Amino acid sequence: MKGVKNLAIFGGKPVRTEELPPHITTDDDEIEAVVEVMKKGRLSLFEGSFSPDPPFSFNGGPYVQRLEREWEKYYGVKHAIAVNSATSGLYAAIGASGTGPGDEVIVSPYTMTASATCAVIYNAVPVFADIREDIFCLDAQAVENAITPYTKAIVVIHLFGHPADIDPIMELARKHDLYVIEDCAQVHGAHYKGKYVGTIGDIGVFSLNCNKTIQTGEGGIITTNNDELANRIRLIRNHGEVVVGSMGLADIANTFGWNYRMTEIEAAIGAVQLKKLKKFNKQRTELAAYLTKGISDIDFLIPPVVRENCDHVYYVYPLRYLEEVAGVPRNVFAAALNAEGIPFYEGYVKPLYLLPMYQQKIAYRGGCPFKCSNYKGNASYEKGLCPTAERMHYKEIMTTEICRYPLTKADMDDIINAIHKVADHMGVLKERKDTIKGSNVW
Ligand SMILES: *Cc1c(COP(=O)(O)O)cnc(C)c1O
Repeated sequence: MKGVKNLAIFGGKPVRTEELPPHITTDDDEIEAVVEVMKKGRLSLFEGSFSPDPPFSFNGGPYVQRLEREWEKYYGVKHAIAVNSATSGLYAAIGASGTGPGDEVIVSPYTMTASATCAVIYNAVPVFADIREDIFCLDAQAVENAITPYTKAIVVIHLFGHPADIDPIMELARKHDLYVIEDCAQVHGAHYKGKYVGTIGDIGVFSLNCNKTIQTGEGGIITTNNDELANRIRLIRNHGEVVVGSMGLADIANTFGWNYRMTEIEAAIGAVQLKKLKKFNKQRTELAAYLTKGISDIDFLIPPVVRENCDHVYYVYPLRYLEEVAGVPRNVFAAALNAEGIPFYEGYVKPLYLLPMYQQKIAYRGGCPFKCSNYKGNASYEKGLCPTAERMHYKEIMTTEICRYPLTKADMDDIINAIHKVADHMGVLKERKDTIKGSNVW
């Protein structure tokens, strides 16, 4: 048996002591763009009405509109609409679909919380359908099983940078007359069967928060090829109730608005970032491929799957840990790896239905939307509802956000070395596993 003393968790020298560099995607190009806006001094030019007071506009100032036109060109989509976050974007998307009290929205539980609260904000009920174990995205069969007479929309999350298998879900949606909203927060620039994700469903929503592949600090972009949906999204973005009268809009439901407006500064940064997307994705893909190759000999780790006709753009690098093969619990392996200076987390996010809002069925006072008198359905949030998502989260998945700019292959070498080092000491870890209680799964 290899020496106990070698492993950092037992006092040995860690593979890496230097912190990994932070994810900073901006440089002088963005500084220049911001200075240009600041010199003009017009930090936003949105106005919450159609009143002609140029350069103020209902659709925002020149930098916001330029970012939108460039996004449309890049993705080959009819409408791109800038908002102040992907959360706002998802809310606007569900609002535009006309979803409301009594409706259900099918969504994966393994995602950032706003993928489901977009239903709740419109007093609709999220219905969670299970994920596929290869790519951690919605399983079409589970979606089909979750469809009820109350279903209005499906939120498809392209998780970790890999496209969901969306074609069979689109087929179901067309058959049952449902809206499909793609949550593209993690999947900028990836393709599914030759098409950009975010251009396949009725609406796509991208995030530009500071952790995403490209960013504006906070921000988001909504994409759609549907003129009516685009119109409704623009109303929701900017106090639509003020203008629907003068527009003569027939169906005004859900068009009352919020302030989801992006500033000119963020838009200027976004336009520069979009030009760097291909470069960032190339780097992520190369680092991930290098890491995957470097650990391919380890039988208890399943590297990320890339399905045929799909790009993986590795917002997150997910590994599946096979405890039965490893002989050591996941928390012990993760703790040993973390001690070597490598940030790998157990799981990702708790399956959403296990959060108090769903467990107690209370969003609004009185229990709406779950106990709303308009709601005739019977959505369940019991533990065990989505067994694959629970197994992935509590037993198998390990995630890290290290395959990204500005990390290099030298950083990947540290990760590969650390994984091999721990893998070489599984005997001693097994023997001492009871001394390692910690777990960072939540
Ligand atoms: C980041 C993220 C969001 C929310 O993005 P914000 O811009 O922070 O609101 C939504 N969905 C997924 C899958 C995300 O990763």
